[in-house]
Amino acid sequence: KLVSREFHPEDTVVEVGGVRFGGGEVPVIAGPCAVEGRELYLEAAFAAREAGATVLRGGAYKPRSSPYTFQGLGEEGLEILAEARERTGLPVCTEVMDPESVPLVARYADILQVGARNAQNYPLLRALGQIDRPVLLKRGFGTTIEEWLSAAEYILAGGNSQVILCERGIRTFETATRFTLDVAAVPVVRQLTHLPVVVDPSHAAGKRQWVAALARAAVAAGADGLEVEVHPRPDESVSDAAQALSPEAFRQMMDEIAAIAAVL
Ligand code: PEP
Ligand code: MN
Repeated sequence: KLVSREFHPEDTVVEVGGVRFGGGEVPVIAGPCAVEGRELYLEAAFAAREAGATVLRGGAYKPRSSPYTFQGLGEEGLEILAEARERTGLPVCTEVMDPESVPLVARYADILQVGARNAQNYPLLRALGQIDRPVLLKRGFGTTIEEWLSAAEYILAGGNSQVILCERGIRTFETATRFTLDVAAVPVVRQLTHLPVVVDPSHAAGKRQWVAALARAAVAAGADGLEVEVHPRPDESVSDAAQALSPEAFRQMMDEIAAIAAVL
């Protein structure tokens, strides 16, 4: 298989705008869950950069559990992301939900994110195999590591080898956290594949008070980066408010992970 270490022994480094995933650094993708509006997004983007984020995030197309909640700003959100990239100089990562939208999202985004709910959307994965742009592939919350790597194989098989894997928690019997972060997936995946693996502690924790602890654990386990939800006024977030970090809490988390990365 193209994803396997046997096929490709050296670590794949996915580079985006000077940021390297898989090269021994710990780049951090940060920003609000969703792009909610221009002013707010720009404020969030500058705050994230100020605290040390090297890639911006924000969904313009949101895979919400309920069809009656905010679904994202769509192309207007993509335009806001493009403006934030221009003004901050940071690359942007945003979700694409269906194969038809891939060309549009690829015009704006530096990294195209596949959400957990689409982790086995094979037409979408095939479409992402056809583009020359990094893809952040989240693990489905009901998928094994093997199924997750098979999903990545779809993208590589199409000719796109710029895939970053993202562990974001799986569903278990435990309900105290939103999902159960499978921190063991980090060393396991690093052994099985040459692709970089980052961790999203925000969706796993579901509550902001546990995000930093999961981020520290991820970095200690050898993660090639993090994806974290940060909002200038967390409680006002339109989606995922409970897990959003304030810029101050995010800055503290960044100091903590830098201390851990320094001893690895
Ligand atoms: C997100 O990153 O905002 C998101 C929806 O994450 P996930 O697909 O992991 O639930
Ligand atoms: Mn979210």
